[in-house]
Amino acid sequence: MKIGVLALQGAVTEHIRSISLAGADGVPVKRVEQLEDLDGLIIPGGESTTIGKLMRKYGFMEAIRQFSEQGKPIFGTCAGLIVLAERIDGHEEAHLKLMNMTVARNAFGRQRESFETDLVVKGIDEPIRAVFIRAPLIMEVGSDVEVLSTYKDEIVTARQGHLLAASFHPELTDDFRLHQYFIEMVEASRTGVQ
Ligand code: GLN
Repeated sequence: MKIGVLALQGAVTEHIRSISLAGADGVPVKRVEQLEDLDGLIIPGGESTTIGKLMRKYGFMEAIRQFSEQGKPIFGTCAGLIVLAERIDGHEEAHLKLMNMTVARNAFGRQRESFETDLVVKGIDEPIRAVFIRAPLIMEVGSDVEVLSTYKDEIVTARQGHLLAASFHPELTDDFRLHQYFIEMVEASRTGVQ
């Protein structure tokens, strides 16, 4: 199994480290041709406007939509979550528009620009360690989207079939269980068991 990390901007090497801690192979993805060899893709945190611009420039918008149409799992973290969303609060044009949800950027306010907490996530036994950095939150989800975790009543992790999104940075700690969860999604999609 091979999992790619979109390597246009943001926390790429950290995700590759977490993927290998969770027992799979992670590769940085810089060209659309690489998608063919992958079973799953992570879109990392960083700056969503920049990532979106670079994705358009290098042809990733269409290529990742096709990747998703094949049922291959995609995991967006922080800015990556914003890139996956169908709707961004405010007037900003959305990017991949794959997940049926509205997200708000930089939603935790100034005092809480950056913080860590333990989060209960549906499908993972014990709370996971989550680092939030100028994090977005999910304001509303469609009926086809399952909420996996909330923080102070705000949605911060969600899943829509083969798509997974988290507001925080699971790759900045040694806790790789959300990566393990994603790897299980990838395994299931490879064997056709959802
Ligand atoms: N605030 C960033 C954005 O809106 C996301 C921050 C992050 O990925 N840590 O794109």
